[in-house]
Amino acid sequence: MQIKVLKFGGTSLSSAEQFKKVKRIVEAEEERKYVVASAPGARFKNDDKVTDILYRCYDLLSENRDLNDEFSKIEKRFLEIEKDLQLKANMSEELYKIRNMFSKNIKKDYLASRGEYLNSILLAKYLGYDFIDASEVIFFDKYHKFDSEKTNTILSDVLKKHKNAVIPGFYGIEVNGDIKTFSRGGSDITGSIVARAANADIYENWTDVSGFLMADPRCVERPKIINELTYNELRELSYRGATVLHEDAVFPVKTARIPINIRNTNKPDDRGTIITPFSSINSRRKTVITGIAGKKGYYLLYIKKSSMNSEKGLKESILSCLRENEVYFEHISSSTDAITVIAKQEDFEGKKAKILNDIYCNFSPEIIIIEENIALIAVVSESGCKGEEILYKVLKSILEISLKTNIIDKGSNDSSIIIGIKEVDYEKAINVIYREFIKEKK
Ligand code: ASP
Repeated sequence: MQIKVLKFGGTSLSSAEQFKKVKRIVEAEEERKYVVASAPGARFKNDDKVTDILYRCYDLLSENRDLNDEFSKIEKRFLEIEKDLQLKANMSEELYKIRNMFSKNIKKDYLASRGEYLNSILLAKYLGYDFIDASEVIFFDKYHKFDSEKTNTILSDVLKKHKNAVIPGFYGIEVNGDIKTFSRGGSDITGSIVARAANADIYENWTDVSGFLMADPRCVERPKIINELTYNELRELSYRGATVLHEDAVFPVKTARIPINIRNTNKPDDRGTIITPFSSINSRRKTVITGIAGKKGYYLLYIKKSSMNSEKGLKESILSCLRENEVYFEHISSSTDAITVIAKQEDFEGKKAKILNDIYCNFSPEIIIIEENIALIAVVSESGCKGEEILYKVLKSILEISLKTNIIDKGSNDSSIIIGIKEVDYEKAINVIYREFIKEKK
């Protein structure tokens, strides 16, 4: 029999109503054996996510302030789900145990992880599945990095002993016994880890959208859903700002070559997006590209010095000087006597003057300019047409509406083109690029 591992995100498990949908999905197929759960997310616009409240609780605790009001919100959420589903899951006792920990110098990650922990207890009870605590099967090493091999060996063994189980997402255990969380959205990674350990045929990631969109709907009206994409394309799109899946969720399943299927809990009949190691022949897209993603918040640093080309190692020294100031380049381009570096705005925060001064004193450039408010846009395609063709169309489309690019990078693997553009032009640029490629379908 096939094995399917499912991960449900916060909105999919935000209330008793959502739990009912999840149960219908899990029970629809016997192969759906292992389930990874997030903490309850927002139920409506502006609602709190449980994880956000837990982080607030920790801040209050560490400032020695009263956290009763905030923690009561958490208690209310879990007790309500338990009551509405008529479960006997010992929520009061579990919540009481957490409250008891407040006087014991608890760590931030411990408190943050309790949303997943409690929600998984509830879900396991509701589905009639076993509960496996992530702190017993997901390990971090002495450098606080995820220990993939130890986890895989132990988790595989544990899963074999359970026909069906629910495992909390987002956290695991450190060598010293402390709970440690992944970065935000990390339950996606747990789902992938469990899929690998279970040797699953597919990792279904259930969320509140019907898959990856070809472009941000805030820039493009009703963008198409991407039916199929490759792991590499997923990495590019996630890193560049597409938020459906955590950017590191691909690694565990990539090792085992397990496909990921993004599905919508609220529209379970939609096929969603399937993410595979390689693109299949029939997915060779008529649309030519896979998707467009982007992010704002970059700075562009331009340095010109007449002798730059003849001074050996000068460009490398400039990059070292930036690194000493903890500025790490995202993209570079250079000409005979100049270099352009794109880096995150946050790298420059509070040290712009120092960086300019260091470069000025060390290298005596003729021109040094920092341009703020730069956005990077990535046009991603691994199996569509060649990079040159994509580049031609990207430039043609943005020139047609007279936008200026600050940097162009064809990438090292032909799977993405990156352009830097002024933040004010970002939405317009994404829209016009999307239209350029999509009109080809007709
Ligand atoms: N609940 C955590 C968060 O909000 C982890 C997750 O949902 O994946 O980031």
